[in-house]
Amino acid sequence: MKPTILTKTDLGNFVGELRKEFTVVGPTRKRSQHVFNEIDDAQDLDLDYVTTILPPKKLFFPPRDNLLSFDRTGEPVPAPLEEKKLLVFGIHSCDLSGLLLLDRVFQKDISYPRYVGRRQGSIIVALTCTQIGDTCFCESMGTGPEPRKGFDILLTDLGDRFLVETGTVEGARLAEKGKCDEAKPSDLESKEKLLSEAKRKFKKKVNTDGLAEALAKNLAHPVWKRLGDKDLACAQCVISCPTCFCMDIRDQWGNLPGETSRCVEWDSCFLLEFAEVALGGNFRKDRGARLRQFMGHNLSWGGAAQYGPVNGQHKCVGCGRCVRVCPVGIDITEVAKEIRGG
Ligand code: SF4
Ligand code: SF4
Repeated sequence: MKPTILTKTDLGNFVGELRKEFTVVGPTRKRSQHVFNEIDDAQDLDLDYVTTILPPKKLFFPPRDNLLSFDRTGEPVPAPLEEKKLLVFGIHSCDLSGLLLLDRVFQKDISYPRYVGRRQGSIIVALTCTQIGDTCFCESMGTGPEPRKGFDILLTDLGDRFLVETGTVEGARLAEKGKCDEAKPSDLESKEKLLSEAKRKFKKKVNTDGLAEALAKNLAHPVWKRLGDKDLACAQCVISCPTCFCMDIRDQWGNLPGETSRCVEWDSCFLLEFAEVALGGNFRKDRGARLRQFMGHNLSWGGAAQYGPVNGQHKCVGCGRCVRVCPVGIDITEVAKEIRGG
């Protein structure tokens, strides 16, 4: 389908049409920040955002997800999945790249049925990113600011209108619900201009040449001990990372028959218990070792070597959330610089 134009006054109708088929989720304002929430009315959408507090991985892989409960006889009863499929509206390229990595982990490397069930048939309406935050570095990681793959529809905000491009047959079918006019060459030129302006706004950069190898060779670098000593092991970085996927499975015992359930919860390599083994052993007792695992997995051994070239060479997609949330100012881009020696 050729690129088209959707005027902003038609956005409400377009979202209304999409809501007839899907649960539409998009960025909404929460005090001074943004969160992905269900959209009942297009007015709730705020597409003028940098990054959300939690990445949209929470939609397909919730922080806490009931797997099953046990009935009065002790038989397991699987928890049903939501019937209506998800449509994620306004996702940026870093978060879309994060989802593509989770697709690889949960749909190809292992099959996690609850992720597969939610993700299959879901629709991605991506948004070209022109709001570059102080901690963003997606361009360095080759994942942004323009989404290049994985979307059904791609919107670019041109002021009073959106440029609408499609990536799949299903996306083209849905885009027609917007009753758009064909885009002019000048609309495509405006998009290119916005993108080059956006690229000039990045304050953080990471030189990724040879970075994976440098990290793997520097397991005893003094940076791990120095930053490990100030690290709080609060795990906020892992929780907010769009590509971290470690999980734990817990049973919750109820007081009455039928109240006992089993759930999946996000886990984190920053927590002391994460690497505990039998007889009281723990192969990552020091905070520095846990910090090294988080950063090494994101910038070295968790990239193409482990998952194939989903997003290039690295697991990190440069969303900058871990830098933004760290209460003691630990910055993965600064660690990368120090390891490379500048
Ligand atoms: S490591 Fe940090 S910057 Fe990279 S994807 Fe995860 S949260 Fe974003
Ligand atoms: S690096 Fe920062 S956010 Fe992550 S666990 Fe350590 S103190 Fe918390």
